[in-house]
Amino acid sequence: MQNETVAKKPHVVIVGAGFGGIRTARALAKNDVKITLIDKYNYHLFQPLLYQVATAGLSVDDIAYPVRAIFRDQKNVDFRLAEVSNVDFETKVVTMNTGQISYDYLVVAAGGMTNYFGMASMEKNGFGMKTLDESVEIRNHVLRMFELAAHERDADKRRALLTFVIVGGGPTGVESAGALSELIYHVMVKEYHNMNFKEVRIMLVEASDKLLATMPEELRDITVETLIRKHVEVRMCVQVTEYDGQRMSLKGGEVIPTYTVIWAAGVKANNLIDTLDVEQASMRRAVVNEYLQLPTRPEVFIIGDAAHCMQGERPLPMVAPVAMQQADATAKNIRNIIRGKELKKFVYKEMGNMATIGRNAAVVHMGKFKTHGFFAWAIWSFVHILRLIDFRNRAVVFVKWMWDYLVYERVVRIITRQ
Ligand SMILES: Cc1cc2nc3c(=O)[nH]c(=O)nc-3n(C[C@H](O)[C@H](O)[C@H](O)COP(=O)(O)OP(=O)(O)OC[C@H]3O[C@@H](n4cnc5c(N)ncnc54)[C@H](O)[C@@H]3O)c2cc1C
Repeated sequence: MQNETVAKKPHVVIVGAGFGGIRTARALAKNDVKITLIDKYNYHLFQPLLYQVATAGLSVDDIAYPVRAIFRDQKNVDFRLAEVSNVDFETKVVTMNTGQISYDYLVVAAGGMTNYFGMASMEKNGFGMKTLDESVEIRNHVLRMFELAAHERDADKRRALLTFVIVGGGPTGVESAGALSELIYHVMVKEYHNMNFKEVRIMLVEASDKLLATMPEELRDITVETLIRKHVEVRMCVQVTEYDGQRMSLKGGEVIPTYTVIWAAGVKANNLIDTLDVEQASMRRAVVNEYLQLPTRPEVFIIGDAAHCMQGERPLPMVAPVAMQQADATAKNIRNIIRGKELKKFVYKEMGNMATIGRNAAVVHMGKFKTHGFFAWAIWSFVHILRLIDFRNRAVVFVKWMWDYLVYERVVRIITRQ
């Protein structure tokens, strides 16, 4: 174990510098506690815009920000760049790849990971979109497919190179399909002079009969119509059974030749949760009580994508507002425990749903308010810019979006790895 000076102040260890972890540390800023924030990356990642990196709209540093910079002025936060492999709840010790650290209070905000639902061939050959590296890999790959297709004489192979499949009709799948369409039909079309763009195929595949399942029917229909208008082939009630890197098989026997399958069909709790002595529920999330504590360990809180927290009949969804509201509630309850006050139950305030389908096209649903088209797209853009963590990121993203909007451009078309 590393040398730990005996802490006079309560020591709060937070695992994960994502939406939940950063917010918890910030919410405890003015409290007399020592905070250690641990993450395997040295940056906070704004995952909702990963698809924009994958489709050459934004650069990695537009949506990621160094954790140390976030806490430059918050002296009670220490950052550790380390991967946590286990926690001993009995001795209150967190094990990392760089050593061990003890805690008085632990907040696990380790997020989620891609869920391939046991389809090993997809995990091996498809593209996940959960990390910066994966998004850059998709961008490199898509751009490379165009370079290869531009000089491919075999028509079948060329069509397979130009077939881009996205699996999963949730917000990530819909937004990725819309953005890919714009990259191809607004930008690539101007530069690949000898290419027949009728050979390009963008497919969005969904196993159920709905895209954006949590949206009202009217907005779901608009989403499908908009995607079709943007040359996206929408295939619903279609189940993928296998993908070998060149051929994607569907239930029923259809085979689609393609070199690109982006898997946006599922998320589960981070595999750190599997190593902990906790009860797990659907998507392997850790079961927590109404205060977000482990039922048998009141000093351990699990929040965000990693936590299975029931609200009424259903577990809360894996979205950023849940993680952030849970972070605020957890910081409050840690303060309450320290001050000997009663704990407050966590109640989630629904923030609504939104998804963009590209230029001037989005759907927004908040309570009774529903809108689509340009106005929804403006709301979506405003909310996402506002949610970025730093002023520089907000300013840069705003300028890039404006530029792309005005000149129909995608500036980040750089293949960074061969
Ligand atoms: C492509 C994509 C698009 C999305 N779009 C939206 C959207 O439009 N709106 C929305 O509300 N939500 C969206 N989400 C979901 C949203 O990003 C998550 O719900 C949110 O990030 C959860 O916050 P969290 O704090 O639980 O975890 P995260 O933000 O994922 O943070 C977890 C952190 O833990 C770290 N970590 C994990 N394991 C370890 C370990 N063993 N040791 C050390 N550190 C570790 C990770 O590096 C990460 O920094 C999207 C997600 C993805 C992937």
